Amino acid sequence: MQVADRCVVSIHYTLTNDAGEVLDSSQGGEALAYLHGQGSIIAGLESALTGKQAGDKLDVRVEPAQGYGERDERLIQQVPRRAFQGISEVQAGMRFQTQGANGPSSVVVTQVAGDMVTVDGNHPLAGQSLNFNVEIAEVREASAEEVEHGHVHGAGGHAH
Ligand code: ZN
Repeated sequence: MQVADRCVVSIHYTLTNDAGEVLDSSQGGEALAYLHGQGSIIAGLESALTGKQAGDKLDVRVEPAQGYGERDERLIQQVPRRAFQGISEVQAGMRFQTQGANGPSSVVVTQVAGDMVTVDGNHPLAGQSLNFNVEIAEVREASAEEVEHGHVHGAGGHAH
């Protein structure tokens, strides 16, 4: 069957950036299973998979607007070190969950200078073009329960 809304699609994928570095891959592990048409994977990849079928292999290039968005310089902020209570040594590369106006988000420390800490709330892949090499392992109709829950049950999905 062809990939369409309300299908469960299982894919193997390798994601590389424009420098050819592998950012993520399902190779050697379980295929990623998702419910198609729900925005549970990035828009550019989801639309490229529509109409494809099991066994198809495709290379999909996703620009930031259809991926994790452009980098937003307003998400880079300086905060005083005392904001990190209970953390003895704040270092570049540390990742923290914060409670913002739009719900929880994740920031990474990019610089520590004196008493000021620079944090970046952009998604790590924001502003990057993403190159997916995809092989479709399986396409099946979603169960009514999966559609109701909005996620996949069983292999590669929710176990509950
Ligand atoms: Zn469920």
